Amino acid sequence: MSETFFVTTALPYANGPFHIGHIMEYIQADIWVRFERMQGHRVHFVGADDAHGAPIMLKAEAEGITPEQLVARIAAGRPRYLEGFHIAFDHWHSTHSGENFDLSQDIYRRLKAADLVYAKPIEQFFDPLKGMFLADRYIKGECPKCHAKDQYGDACEVCGSVYAPSELIEPYSALTGAKPVLKQSEHFFFRLSDPRCVGFLRQWLESPGHVQPQVANKAREWLDGAGEQALADWDISRDAPYFGIPIPDAPGKYFYVWLDAPIGYLASLKSYFESGKAREHGETRSFEQFLAAPDTRQVHFIGKDIIYFHTLFWPAMLHFAGAPYRAPDNVHVHGFITVSGAKMSKSRGTGISPLRYLELGMNPEWLRYYIAAKLNGNVEDLDFNPEDFLARVNSDLIGKYVNIASRAASFINRHFDGVIDYPGGTEALITRANLLLQQVRASYASREYSRAMREIMAFADELNQRFDARQPWVLAKNPAEREALQDSCAQALYGFKILTCLLAPVLPAVAERVARELFGLERPLTFADALEAPRHIRPYQHLMTRVDPQQLEALLEPPATPAPTADKTSAAAADSAAAATISIDTFKQVDLRVARIAAAEAVSGAEKLLRLTLDLGGEQRTVFAGIKAAYDPATLVGRLTVMVANLAPRKMKFGVSEGMVLAASGPQGGPFLLAPDSGAVPGMRIS
Ligand SMILES: [Zn+2]
Repeated sequence: MSETFFVTTALPYANGPFHIGHIMEYIQADIWVRFERMQGHRVHFVGADDAHGAPIMLKAEAEGITPEQLVARIAAGRPRYLEGFHIAFDHWHSTHSGENFDLSQDIYRRLKAADLVYAKPIEQFFDPLKGMFLADRYIKGECPKCHAKDQYGDACEVCGSVYAPSELIEPYSALTGAKPVLKQSEHFFFRLSDPRCVGFLRQWLESPGHVQPQVANKAREWLDGAGEQALADWDISRDAPYFGIPIPDAPGKYFYVWLDAPIGYLASLKSYFESGKAREHGETRSFEQFLAAPDTRQVHFIGKDIIYFHTLFWPAMLHFAGAPYRAPDNVHVHGFITVSGAKMSKSRGTGISPLRYLELGMNPEWLRYYIAAKLNGNVEDLDFNPEDFLARVNSDLIGKYVNIASRAASFINRHFDGVIDYPGGTEALITRANLLLQQVRASYASREYSRAMREIMAFADELNQRFDARQPWVLAKNPAEREALQDSCAQALYGFKILTCLLAPVLPAVAERVARELFGLERPLTFADALEAPRHIRPYQHLMTRVDPQQLEALLEPPATPAPTADKTSAAAADSAAAATISIDTFKQVDLRVARIAAAEAVSGAEKLLRLTLDLGGEQRTVFAGIKAAYDPATLVGRLTVMVANLAPRKMKFGVSEGMVLAASGPQGGPFLLAPDSGAVPGMRIS
């Protein structure tokens, strides 16, 4: 039976380009969408930019443009990534749109009518210069616990304490430096703690399939919280100035960006319907009819960091707003992507750039395959490991998949003029294909892509072994073995066709080329094609190259970041003349800290480097320093030194270096590590 799906990915915040975490999520969703379409289901796949909130308003202001201009510039950059990685959204929209204003205000009015919204005055820091209430991240001050200066309003980066902004000593506005004042304002709240909401959410979380079991458990913990952990109502309003959607009948009040962001899923769907594209995809109902229909399945792909919003607020908002709105049918949660074990972080500059990946001419389907080979249906993190990437892509895609076709096709074209016959019959392969289709489809459906890839590659191994065992290159020399030659190559090519059908959701461009160029099919492959043995082929054309280690190295080399610790010391030594003057403000940008060397060890394979573990008083950093020639690592442990704490992390061959230690050197020798006078403790700021 054919089903209808409405599929979304989390909306990216429109203050910067996509990072690798976005691309991973889109690839996960895109594979699933393509798979369901190959099953014969109708899928509408939409996305949008999340355009509202203070960070976008302030960034635009800093650039001297309007928020609309900023958001438009970011949106203009999206297609390059989406097309580049074959991510086939049917429609891309924005939360700063007429549809989203209408839908957000409509849902709000319905929730208010259901008595699930109330107003309450709250006291909050206000920047008198800027005339604006300050979110925690815009307030800084001295940590009440360890007295580190310049800490954010919610947590201290030096000692790790968590506190309220009002506890900061000498707080100041990070926007203007002004002393903030406490000021009252009326905010609107969504009654999440209402027994109706809690009851509905318990039931929604219990119905099988809505969320993964581990996600349901997490959401239940929040619902069951007591005391300080008790489920709180949700503050859904912000005061002007704010870039967002005005709250009806409440001048100067806007929806908090997290209220209108998920409604953006529906706004994009509505715009997709109103643009006529849904009709082009065979959907004749109106947006409202489609949304309300019980057989429309609403499916969200999201990361584990936004479970709270998608398993509590979002289903409750939709359910209590009433028809045509309905709570989602599936919220599929994935983990984070790490690079060589280090958490991807925009602010610290680690990770790999998807745009650079494309600019280096790396094949997008390598990444799609690699991600598929590592993703399962659980909420687990996925590690991008360069050596593993190279080995897996080269061995699986080139060694096992593409090679079988290139080898078998050349015999069929040379000796049989492209005609495929099966002297040994096709029954065995058809039986195998039926079994594989059953297994692999079940794996895709449950997002167990890694299992699907293992099942597919095990079959590719079988094909290659059988092909090699029959030694067609030997058979080709003996005219009496003509039938055996044809059969060995025919079996291999039919097997290749089965592989291509099974891999098509992951490798859409290759599958399209194989269908057209090799098998002469002028339409996309379906799973049923796996049961049709091919009868002729066209000349084989080169399908895919191996991963070049140099491209991979270039990908991991961060562009335009400062030279790392190791080369820095010697470069500085060469330049003994005083540098040009800088202002005190420029100097202050360098965050110098006292650090204790907690561990020091040689790095195998590196002649000059020591791996230092530096203790900053609560936080530990790994730094690679080019001081091996001058220091025995054992003598360094326990020493205090000085480090640059805000240097962009640098990915090196041996790991990520998260800062640099300072050392003196010159013609007379060195490097000599710097050390503070006695009394200094780890974490102290140097100025
Ligand atoms: Zn602190």
